Amino acid sequence: MSLFGPSKPILPALIVHGGAWDIPEHLHQDSIDGCCEAARKGWEVLERGGSAVDAVEAAVRMLEDDPTFDAGRGAVLNCAGAIELDAIIMDGSDLNLGAVIGVQRVRNPVTLARLVMTESEHAILACEGAEAFARRRGLALVPNSELAVEREKTRWQAERAERQPHGDLSRGHPGDTVGAVGLDLSGHLAVATSTGGTFYKHPGRVGDSPLVGCGAYADDRSGAVSATGEGESLMRVVISKSVCDLMYGGMSAQEAADAGIGLLTRRTSGQGGLIVLGNQGDVGIAHNTSYLAHAYVKGEKIIGGVLKRSDVRQA
Ligand code: ASP
Repeated sequence: MSLFGPSKPILPALIVHGGAWDIPEHLHQDSIDGCCEAARKGWEVLERGGSAVDAVEAAVRMLEDDPTFDAGRGAVLNCAGAIELDAIIMDGSDLNLGAVIGVQRVRNPVTLARLVMTESEHAILACEGAEAFARRRGLALVPNSELAVEREKTRWQAERAERQPHGDLSRGHPGDTVGAVGLDLSGHLAVATSTGGTFYKHPGRVGDSPLVGCGAYADDRSGAVSATGEGESLMRVVISKSVCDLMYGGMSAQEAADAGIGLLTRRTSGQGGLIVLGNQGDVGIAHNTSYLAHAYVKGEKIIGGVLKRSDVRQA
């Protein structure tokens, strides 16, 4: 009990997403199942008193292992036919973070990002340097081809057949990037986001996902946010940090999520989606894409779905 009377007990909370885009109907059930499984995994960690950082890492690892999603195994191929993965993890208690960019031989980039956060003096490691660090820290490296699934190889071949050999490279379109936000029993927040980026992207292209404040942000003083969608637009409004600032200014998680998507739409006409947790465990979900795959835990129950744009309150 504090001097001012009994303080409100902290109830843990967790939300995960599996991307915001035009998710084709035949993928809806797999996306929902994958998000629910990941939410269950993260929730188990929180229920037994584990930290929010452990919970979001566990949830995102599960999503990276699920070939349904554009993260870890099952990620999209770039225009050269290779997979390049990006991930970030952030601890809202001390604003510590770790991120990796463009790794090609790591099955669970979120775990490598966590090692960067806890075991290195740096915040972000990229490409071969990140892989060398992974090896030194005991993470097994796998051939890039092991991360590629048939569905993505077929899609890549079809795209290549359609393009002029030296035609302009388009930006590629976003897909089922994954993310998780969690609040633990001690009142600490964390976030993780992981992606293969956009389909048929230029080699070396980096989106919002591994950039702090863009693809993710967590601060115990306000909330935690994971973003998904068109990275080139999301980064222009530093969307995750902007949404945390709105919560710090007094908005609820849902109000801030709606305002963040409003900002994205008005300032960039970009497409995207957000999952948001306030530091009291209030939930916010918003997107301006056709769908957003997600799951969250409410009073022990896992609730998952593929939200249609019209299901969500508009800003
Ligand atoms: N935001 C990711 C990127 O631009 C893509 C996505 O969310 O699906 O790399």
